[in-house]
Amino acid sequence: MTEIDNTLRSSPISDKALGELASIVGPTNVLTGDDAAPALIDTRTKFRGQSFAVIRPANTHEVAAVVAWCAAKDICIVTQGGNTGLSGGGQFDDARPSIVVLLSRMNQIEEVDAEGWTMTVQAGVTIEAMQEAAAAANRKFAPDWGARGSATIGGGIATDAGGNNVVRYGNMRDQLLGLEAVLPDGQVWNGLRALRKDSSGYDMKHLFIGSEGTLGIITRAVVKLHPATPHEQSALAALRHLDDLMDVFALANDVAPDSITAFELMAETGIARVCEVFDITHPMDDRAEFYVLVKFANTQPVTDQLAQFLSTGAERGFITDAIVASSAEQEQRLWKIREEIPPMSLYPHQAKGLKMDTAVPIAKMGEYHDAVRAIADELVPDAVAYGFGHVGDGNLHMMVLPLHDEDVDDFLAVRDELIRRIDEATFALNGTLSAEHGLGRELTERVRPQKSDVEWTMMRTIKAAFDPDDRLNPGALLPPL
Ligand SMILES: Cc1cc2nc3c(=O)[nH]c(=O)nc-3n(C[C@H](O)[C@H](O)[C@H](O)COP(=O)(O)OP(=O)(O)OC[C@H]3O[C@@H](n4cnc5c(N)ncnc54)[C@H](O)[C@@H]3O)c2cc1C
Repeated sequence: MTEIDNTLRSSPISDKALGELASIVGPTNVLTGDDAAPALIDTRTKFRGQSFAVIRPANTHEVAAVVAWCAAKDICIVTQGGNTGLSGGGQFDDARPSIVVLLSRMNQIEEVDAEGWTMTVQAGVTIEAMQEAAAAANRKFAPDWGARGSATIGGGIATDAGGNNVVRYGNMRDQLLGLEAVLPDGQVWNGLRALRKDSSGYDMKHLFIGSEGTLGIITRAVVKLHPATPHEQSALAALRHLDDLMDVFALANDVAPDSITAFELMAETGIARVCEVFDITHPMDDRAEFYVLVKFANTQPVTDQLAQFLSTGAERGFITDAIVASSAEQEQRLWKIREEIPPMSLYPHQAKGLKMDTAVPIAKMGEYHDAVRAIADELVPDAVAYGFGHVGDGNLHMMVLPLHDEDVDDFLAVRDELIRRIDEATFALNGTLSAEHGLGRELTERVRPQKSDVEWTMMRTIKAAFDPDDRLNPGALLPPL
């Protein structure tokens, strides 16, 4: 893992070279020094990059020219969209010279085709801007997660992002119809086909989905749109026990298979902390250890379906208490709690702790949760350990974090052992260490046992075919040799 080092290396790139880059993108779009600093640290303040300049191209042509320039000079490239990634994939720290290519200026929505149910965008468009553009055409762009205002479609594709609505619409891979990318030698591949069916050989766009900037720079995309769901309503339901989770999920699917859109688990530990830090009144009168936050959405009102789900869950004893959002303000409050439950704003030592992005078969969710709790209780009894996540997809984010200043050293002393035991528990349940955040630089070593040598060799062969000089985001995604 790349530990934070606050000293930036002095630039080996000459003023002449920076001038050449400026001649491609314009002088105001070559950032160095303090102007470049925000791109060199990740959102969790865990990884620091050591690139010499941040370059902001405006279009595919400029990206291609920058990439060709880097190829000629043997300079590495790390691509960034919103820099909201949670695995350190956007921060390059290596002895080789590198630049950040930041796509924030590539923020044009090129076409919303309501009749064709597609949208074509540049890669730096934010998820929120795409949602708004779709809504304005009475359509829905389905991906949604807390960082929607900053995270870009390029970053979402590069990490195969998930989020709240996967349970109904699938993840980013399921949304993508076509792609344009700049290859490591500067060639442009235009695969912007808006076809629902195309069996004409290898489907190259799938290689770029989840590739984390290691194969090329995604510059434009065509995505699917879905019918708008003007009626949306959420409820927070207290669970009798985590073991009832699967029954509650099955019930939601029985009652409202056409409406269930989000099915999120939240532990009381996290909710209580969000309420304390953000001065929010706790939504429930009686506390439980776990709650599910569900959202039903449809073209018709969903209130009756939601009521049936909650009353049947209560009759069967799975749900012990519930609150239904009956106004936009209540709806926002419930989702504010969900979106603030990641530890970044809650716990001062979160960067020293562990963030898991695990997926296990859904029926094993309780077993996984209990295994992590037991390991944490044994090794770091003073740490805070809580879970939340998109459990309708089998995706649980468990956090294990030192709570007090005086706990940090003890925590760090057993951190490697914690990781080893938790990862072992994940693999024993046939799970993955990365459900939706990507491997970045955080998980490259840890993920090695998850796949066979045959699979890693296939991945390395693909990487070498695209990027034989290993200049695109080196050190990310693949385990070190
Ligand atoms: C509060 C919060 C909540 C979050 N919730 C979720 C969630 O629910 N689900 C989820 O999946 N993620 C979530 N994330 C993580 C993050 O938002 C996603 O990983 C997102 O896809 C990153 O997009 P970005 O534009 O910020 O990418 P960046 O952080 O800039 O980059 C991420 C990776 O993608 C590569 N990359 C970026 N753009 C391109 C491009 N155009 N071409 C090639 N490679 C590129 C980078 O090199 C890097 O490896 C959350 C993050 C935060 C801060």
